[in-house]
Amino acid sequence: MDVFRCPRCATIAFIETTACGACGMEMGVHPPSLTMRAAPEQGTDVAGTWWFPCTNRDWGCNWLAAADSGSGRCLACRLIRTRPDNDDTLALEKLASASADERRLLVHLADLGLPVTRWFEEDGGLGFDLLSSRSSGARVGIGHANGIITIDLAESLDEHREALRISLDEPYRTMLGHFRHEVGHYYELILVERTDWIDECRTIFGDERASYRDAIARHYREGAPRDWAESYISQYATMHPWEDFAECFAHYLHITRTLVTAAAGNLSVRMEGVAAVPDGVITPRTGYADATMDEILRDWLPLATFFNRVNRAMGKHDLYPFSIPEPVARKLDFVHRVVMASRVERPLG
Ligand SMILES: [Zn+2]
Ligand SMILES: [Zn+2]
Ligand SMILES: [Zn+2]
Repeated sequence: MDVFRCPRCATIAFIETTACGACGMEMGVHPPSLTMRAAPEQGTDVAGTWWFPCTNRDWGCNWLAAADSGSGRCLACRLIRTRPDNDDTLALEKLASASADERRLLVHLADLGLPVTRWFEEDGGLGFDLLSSRSSGARVGIGHANGIITIDLAESLDEHREALRISLDEPYRTMLGHFRHEVGHYYELILVERTDWIDECRTIFGDERASYRDAIARHYREGAPRDWAESYISQYATMHPWEDFAECFAHYLHITRTLVTAAAGNLSVRMEGVAAVPDGVITPRTGYADATMDEILRDWLPLATFFNRVNRAMGKHDLYPFSIPEPVARKLDFVHRVVMASRVERPLG
């Protein structure tokens, strides 16, 4: 996809933008075409169908809803199966920021062509339960089950999420990262476990039929093996083949989205001394459908180093605080081949 632009003046817009920063035009995302359109209250005609601003626009949803959606809510909002009560204002505020991450995820999935079936249309379709452990006092387990992804909105609170990140010894923990990891479980279920991919998956990631309960107990008792970094992307990935796949899937999304975003800005970086790039110039692409995972990593590894230097220049943690050993590259290659083989037309159409 191209970057989002104002339909009137073509100024580049963020994925969350509701009004153009240059000309002020009210705009919204038309999900089937993944483009920004005018978003007047009286609606806008796109190829013979009327689209209206989502009724959740007041708290930041910038998607458009088709006239026949029945509810006035856009697809992203309808995919949220459970949300905090209307009188829980603190949790609703966090819901707004988590929903922005959910929409960012959906744009990426659609751009990759991954199927997005809907929980309200079929059993096992994708849906989100966005709950807050802070409001209810009850534990909210972040996870995936039969298409439904549960997210703890309390993780939108910086001090809460950061405390967890430190106590779990993780180099990276974000709400968007949670969405990317959990959707990896969903796609392993529908694209791998229910297809012929499962045999190769077991060869690469291990047998997912191993007891998950035992794996959790072992992980929290003993931690990751000492040499985990030689064959896993994270300590968490060592827990069970399911977690290894979901972690690799999340990284596949991290990598492809960052590369494509850099390409949309025509970024080109000269990195002297990178053996895999003879002239030293890395030019990321706007899409990697025709590329192998090796080619993707040939762009990514030097660029990640560059972005890490940029972050350090600002006194921030590394943008990508991970390294990718050969066994992880092979796992990412599997994810890439599954994604490319599973593409559908207009997943949000
Ligand atoms: Zn504009
Ligand atoms: Zn919406
Ligand atoms: Zn998981």
